[in-house]
Amino acid sequence: MLGKNGERSRQDGGAANGGGNDAGSGAARAPLDVLREVFGYAAFRGEQAQIVEHVSGGGDALVLMPTGGGKSLCYQIPSLVRQGTGVVVSPLIALMQDQVDALTELGVRAAFLNSTLDFPAVKRVEEALLAGELDLLYVAPERLVTERCLSLLERAHIALFAIDEAHCVSQWGHDFRPEYIQLSILHQRWPEVPRVALTATADAQTRAEIVSKLALEDARVFVSSFDRPNIRYRIVEKADARRQLLNFIREEHEGEAGIVYCLSRAKVEETAEFLKQNGITALPYHAGMDAAARERNQSAFLREDGIVMTATIAFGMGIDKPDVRFVAHLDLPKSVEGYYQETGRAGRDGLAADAWMAYGLQDVVQQRRMIEESEASEAYKRLSAAKLDAMLGLCETTECRRVRLLNYFDEASGPCGNCDVCLEPPEVWDGTVAAQKVLSCVYRLLKERNQRFGAGQVIDILRGKTTDKITQWNHDSLSVFGIGADLSDQEWRGMVRQLIALGVLAVDHTAFSTLMLTEASRTVLKGEQKIQLRKQEKRAAVKRERAGKSAAVVDLAAPDLALFEKLRAWRAETAKAHCVPAYVIFHDATLREIALRRPAAVHELESVSGVGARKLEAYGAEIVGVVAQDAD
Ligand code: ADP
Ligand code: ZN
Repeated sequence: MLGKNGERSRQDGGAANGGGNDAGSGAARAPLDVLREVFGYAAFRGEQAQIVEHVSGGGDALVLMPTGGGKSLCYQIPSLVRQGTGVVVSPLIALMQDQVDALTELGVRAAFLNSTLDFPAVKRVEEALLAGELDLLYVAPERLVTERCLSLLERAHIALFAIDEAHCVSQWGHDFRPEYIQLSILHQRWPEVPRVALTATADAQTRAEIVSKLALEDARVFVSSFDRPNIRYRIVEKADARRQLLNFIREEHEGEAGIVYCLSRAKVEETAEFLKQNGITALPYHAGMDAAARERNQSAFLREDGIVMTATIAFGMGIDKPDVRFVAHLDLPKSVEGYYQETGRAGRDGLAADAWMAYGLQDVVQQRRMIEESEASEAYKRLSAAKLDAMLGLCETTECRRVRLLNYFDEASGPCGNCDVCLEPPEVWDGTVAAQKVLSCVYRLLKERNQRFGAGQVIDILRGKTTDKITQWNHDSLSVFGIGADLSDQEWRGMVRQLIALGVLAVDHTAFSTLMLTEASRTVLKGEQKIQLRKQEKRAAVKRERAGKSAAVVDLAAPDLALFEKLRAWRAETAKAHCVPAYVIFHDATLREIALRRPAAVHELESVSGVGARKLEAYGAEIVGVVAQDAD
């Protein structure tokens, strides 16, 4: 099935690839042996060992691990160790084929059942399952809960149930899937089969919901560190966001894969177009596009090198492309959970990656407005406002971003040395007096003139500008006129933004976005609350020092780099012949190690991370050939 001419049908659900695998049959194997032989990794990471042991032994588990932390192995290896088939419930239909292909490349017998399969393909998968020829079966939740599927599973031998993206059970979350609620049926019908639920959403509320809705009260909970040390967090002040983004990509990620998140569909389209016009290979993705176009763009992103996906948050769940080198936000995410999940899609291969965001006054105003104007219940609005506040706190912080992020997930840590604040500590000044000036201006307008104005006019008054609008309203006669000439427009906007972020100032969206005082304004006016501000960024920006070099090769010497490129070319050809994304053959990190070690014989590849038994057999000789040719 792995023959070089092995063009496989994309419609076979995987099962037609047949057996020939010994990964899942016979006597129970030790998890570590499976990790080494099948996956080619030397050691478990973090909590993986304990989780795999617990589930392999028949225990239920709830696994909380950040994106890229290594959740898949937590159910894949127990499925291979235990008798029978591991059934994986996943909402990600569009990605099942890739997941199955990746496993097939490893010599694991995997298949999927979802609505993309035609009837004969479904039959083949069902027969393979009943014949005990599958190690892993991926099923869409809406399909799993049908009587046909349940009775099929009843006739099969099931090793375990894995419920991936388990936060989809949460009605409060943005990925809610009603079918997930019905998954408690698994426990009722198969009380003796172990279940493992996995998610990268870590807040306490979601966790509690998963436990109760999936009847996992007795499951052992494994909480991993949420730190992703290879991701560098940066939040820059928005000036001309698209231009800033373009510079960021050109200067630091030319030719590399990345994701750019925007709030609206229109902005997604515009941004993709803008990047394209500026020579960046960008594609759009949002829920308003038809399914075929979405699928096409997603597939191109996964298969081709160096594509920038410009997307709404509809894109990304389950994308396991390891070499996404940056995730950029042009709009403020609604919550820290969302931000963390989205940025977590960068650097899954463990190599250096960037999480970059442009943030400004308009973001704060817009997000506050969306909450106020939503039709949701008061309770939901309060929850959303609290989540937004935490996100704003992250943007405005003058402390290490990572400390702040991890703290949100109840994890303590020290300054990280790999975020903008650590690398280039912002100068902080006491803005209390300046804040009082803004608040007094808003107060005087209301008290003396019974007027309310937006941020622009308030700033012009403070700076003492004589614009038409100032003269027209006679605002130059206010006592606060010109009391803030010492700060620039941008500094005042930063001040207003922070005051709104802190809730010390509010925006009335029902009246032309005019500024209003709040309960909290008084504490600042009375000097009871200090306002700490960042000095305007002079930043040459905290850049990567690698001038367009990919993270995998940043410190390779020229001859090794040449070999790395040859290996990449070989990989591209092989991936094409197998109809799979390049990273399914080998990750960049694996090619890098091969380029450094220059194996002269196939067995020397055994200890390279990411080379398992099946890949050694399938590709070992070819790789040694590429290396030998390079030496000539
Ligand atoms: P997620 O938690 O997001 O589902 P994955 O399971 O996709 O993460 O794993 C992320 C990456 O880490 C993958 O490329 C995977 O192959 C790699 N990985 C996972 N566990 C290990 C390990 N023990 N050793 C080396 N690489 C690993
Ligand atoms: Zn830091």
